[in-house]
Amino acid sequence: MTEIYSVLITGASRGIGLEFVRQFLSDSSVQCRIIIAACRSPENADALQELKNSSSKIHILKLDVNQFETYDHFATEVAEIVGNKGLTLLINNAGVATSLSNKLADITPEKFISVLKTNSVAPVLVTKALYPLLKQAAQVQSKNIDGFSVKRAAVINISSVAGSISRNIGNYKCWCYRESKAALNMSTKSLAIELGKDGILVESFHPGFVDTDMTSSIKEGGQHQKISAFDSVKGMITVMLRLSEKNKEGFYDYNGEIITF
Ligand code: NDP
Repeated sequence: MTEIYSVLITGASRGIGLEFVRQFLSDSSVQCRIIIAACRSPENADALQELKNSSSKIHILKLDVNQFETYDHFATEVAEIVGNKGLTLLINNAGVATSLSNKLADITPEKFISVLKTNSVAPVLVTKALYPLLKQAAQVQSKNIDGFSVKRAAVINISSVAGSISRNIGNYKCWCYRESKAALNMSTKSLAIELGKDGILVESFHPGFVDTDMTSSIKEGGQHQKISAFDSVKGMITVMLRLSEKNKEGFYDYNGEIITF
């Protein structure tokens, strides 16, 4: 069993984020002391509240990732919860896919900027706000763990294969969403270089084509069959726990396949 002191997941109210909370609470391969579930409307997050009622490990914090002005307060709340051992694992999961069009003509500045704000800018700024706590975790854990590991300190950006520039080979859909995830992937590389100096691992993950609200309007077909949030998250946790020094700055799918940026 792998022990992770503290984990924080953004966008934890439903879908993949909620499933991360469930599995960090109950998966037999990993034990977390503190699970911080951040979501923009805790009062409406019924499934999350139910989980919290079942375990004192879960702390629910309010965070709309688009409200940058609240980040300092949010970081203070996180610091109070994690104490002097810091934040071990940050999962930047919150995301939107509001523009699934395949036509340049359909793009508006508002749509494009809105998707970039949530999917590209926010994960970097959330990481910036929590960097001191991640650094603290990396330092504290360095006594037990040398090198890079999600047990020591890590940032996982939930990206998408749609943001892989090398895999954009026709059938171009999802304008704005693709660009937002490509930008996130570049930030993964840049953060990995900068935070890597402090022993913090940074990776991008593609969760697969997952049956959630985000994909409810997209039809399955051919090779594109949806998987459950359970299988996606189970796979991602399994891959995360294996990451080490040699996997720095990577992009993985939920099966552990390496995706070319
Ligand atoms: P869902 O639409 O089911 O859930 C999205 C989550 O993000 C919700 O919890 C939502 O909160 C939260 N969120 C959205 N905007 C904000 C915001 N401004 N502040 C805080 N939270 C916010 O999507 P998924 O679970 O499917 O997606 C999770 C991540 O996985 C996303 O980053 C997505 O791009 C990525 N992904 C998903 C794939 C899939 O097949 N499903 C494939 C590839 C990548 P609220 O309930 O308040 O709206």
